[in-house]
Amino acid sequence: MLDIIIKNIGTLVTAEGSSPLYGKNQGKVKVYNNISIGIKDSFIEYIGESPNEKARKTINANGALVTSGLVDCHTHFVYGGSREDEMYDIVTGHMGYSDIIKAGYGILSTVKDTREQTENALYKKSIPILDSMIKYGTTTVEGKSGYGLTVKDEIKILNVMKKLNENHKIDIVSTFMGGHVVPNEYKNDRNGYVNLICNEMIPKIAELGLAEFCDVFCENCGLDMEESHKILDTAQKHNLKLKIHSDQLETSGGSYLAARFNAVSAEHLIMADDRCIDVIKKHGVIAVLLPNASFYLGMPYAKLDIWWKKVYLLL
Ligand SMILES: [Zn+2]
Repeated sequence: MLDIIIKNIGTLVTAEGSSPLYGKNQGKVKVYNNISIGIKDSFIEYIGESPNEKARKTINANGALVTSGLVDCHTHFVYGGSREDEMYDIVTGHMGYSDIIKAGYGILSTVKDTREQTENALYKKSIPILDSMIKYGTTTVEGKSGYGLTVKDEIKILNVMKKLNENHKIDIVSTFMGGHVVPNEYKNDRNGYVNLICNEMIPKIAELGLAEFCDVFCENCGLDMEESHKILDTAQKHNLKLKIHSDQLETSGGSYLAARFNAVSAEHLIMADDRCIDVIKKHGVIAVLLPNASFYLGMPYAKLDIWWKKVYLLL
């Protein structure tokens, strides 16, 4: 007995490759027309003509498209306030993204607004964002904290994601990102902030089971290599899996840290050079490219010609 049969599928589009990492088949899709699928124990049992098999549930697709749910592996969807004010500076080229952060705007303005919001207000603000994601096909979303930057406010954001995961039909994977930027109150005591992350935030969040991953913004305007190293090392010791915002605004070296820790992923990578790409490939780190962030910030896009040659074509 199957769990589910989906019959009368007009077009079925599915991935052809079997590797979650690199490989020629990764970018290929397979298209079937007028077909059914059977599902058992969360796995697809068959793709083909509907046999006389019985299922607990039969869904009639009525000729519609059936395809995999999309997984969005990098978002910051729980936040207070809005940042349209900085768009003028970005669009006109008056200030770059890192200048905006250094001047106390950008991420830090969202930190201020997020701290002022209650858990309930952030919860309510996040619902339409998730509704919109699911409308466009995203069924699993990773969400990062990192706009609280105090023990209390980081936990507040992660609690919002936990409750949304329980109550919203989208699946949410939570990432702790206290290492986003150094907040204003620690401007002259960066070590103090890194110690707060390592000695209080990470142990508490790991103990509460509020995050599966730890991420860090390894950039000159975020956390430097040494600070990022300490945070990732602590997170790994508390059994959090690792992700890194890496080589986005400059060739920051985040790719080397990702390799050093065998991180799950290195993300952005706009400024990743040949050596960065080689090292993350060698260590099996998943490269996450975020073209929409480049579009929004008016920045260059990742060097797809190099990625294409090194990662895609050679395998
Ligand atoms: Zn990000």
